[in-house]
Amino acid sequence: MLYQDGIPTEEDLAKVMPSAERMKKGAFAITECFQNIPCNPCMTACAKGALKVEPDINQRPKIDYDICNGCSACVSKCPGLAIFVVDMTAGDSALVRLPYEFLPVPAKGDMVTGLDREGKAVGTFPVESVVSGGKKNMTWVIGIRVPADLAMTVRAIRVGGEA
Ligand code: SF4
Ligand code: SF4
Repeated sequence: MLYQDGIPTEEDLAKVMPSAERMKKGAFAITECFQNIPCNPCMTACAKGALKVEPDINQRPKIDYDICNGCSACVSKCPGLAIFVVDMTAGDSALVRLPYEFLPVPAKGDMVTGLDREGKAVGTFPVESVVSGGKKNMTWVIGIRVPADLAMTVRAIRVGGEA
């Protein structure tokens, strides 16, 4: 339960996910940010204006899924590591882009262990993309290819090791 262990329930997640129809159309961001805190770098990172923290900085972020194109610019800007981008258009697999702040940073083509929200290993998956957050931002955005049924489960990675 979120307020005891920091792990969102299915009910919590349902509130921040796009519709099943939207998920099939293209990549989308998810803000797994569930508390009213004074924070909004996700909004300033979104040049398209898809992600808003309104009417004041204490509100939780909301995404307009008619505008969000899954560009991932917001992922490395969230200090809470709470934003993920998922692309389910491949059908049987999904690309999950997630924030990563440990060393070593994996390379494209590496196999990494995927972890669920409780930190449990759920499989070993290939790294498809590695993007730096920039010179002054040590948050990387790692894209991993997972089976489609794990797209909403894998939310972190461990470099090396078996599942
Ligand atoms: S993925 Fe891109 S378009 Fe979507 S909310 Fe993030 S920055 Fe905005
Ligand atoms: S930057 Fe991250 S923690 Fe801050 S409001 Fe946005 S999603 Fe929540």
